[in-house]
Amino acid sequence: MDIRCPECGIYFDYADEVVLDEANTLTHTSCYSNAISFKKDSGKTMDILQKYPFFHKSSPVN
Ligand SMILES: [Zn+2]
Repeated sequence: MDIRCPECGIYFDYADEVVLDEANTLTHTSCYSNAISFKKDSGKTMDILQKYPFFHKSSPVN
């Protein structure tokens, strides 16, 4: 998928455990200890993407 972790720079996998912060930024759970933002939600990338439709913004389909 085309979203990367801002802490480690690695693209998320759907099965990765992630944290969603107040700025709607996804960060790996394992990377999040470095972040200072308020934690809004957490779970697998797949579940967060389904729960928050704003991630389904228009991205070019190849
Ligand atoms: Zn990371």
